[in-house]
Amino acid sequence: MNKAVIEFSSRAENVAFARVAVTAFVSQLDFTLSELEELKVAVSEAVSNAIVHGYASDPDQNVRLEIRVADNYLEIETIDTGRGIDDIAKALEPAYSTDPERMGLGFAFMQSFMDKLDVKSEPGRGTRVKMVR
Ligand code: ATP
Ligand code: MG
Repeated sequence: MNKAVIEFSSRAENVAFARVAVTAFVSQLDFTLSELEELKVAVSEAVSNAIVHGYASDPDQNVRLEIRVADNYLEIETIDTGRGIDDIAKALEPAYSTDPERMGLGFAFMQSFMDKLDVKSEPGRGTRVKMVR
């Protein structure tokens, strides 16, 4: 198991950084270009959620990203210590959002682009989103 851990400020511009970091780290696995694109979308959605929902766009909080890689195995975990999710089952429903301006499709993308999605959250304590592919 090879792993990388990065922590960055909860700023919108760091979504792109997270995407590139994951792409660089997984270059040791042989993903196709289209698989890499899917991976980037999943990472972007998870990190955006941490920033926008977890921290209500407060730019001075920390988002942690853990990447674990083994033969043919990839695990990405996004961790925030923000607001947390009240009802995880509901949050995972496609087209459900607590923000009327949003589509509510982030988790749906993560689910369809990754093999496994596991969400752990405690209101007021934070959220961990683990994705496996
Ligand atoms: P979109 O991703 O399409 O912009 P969205 O972010 O609302 O819309 P999802 O990404 O599917 O949709 O998330 C669904 C809901 O889950 C969010 O509206 C939010 O209430 C909650 N949520 C998701 N991630 C977090 C998080 N890290 N912290 C707190 N709440 C979250
Ligand atoms: Mg989202």
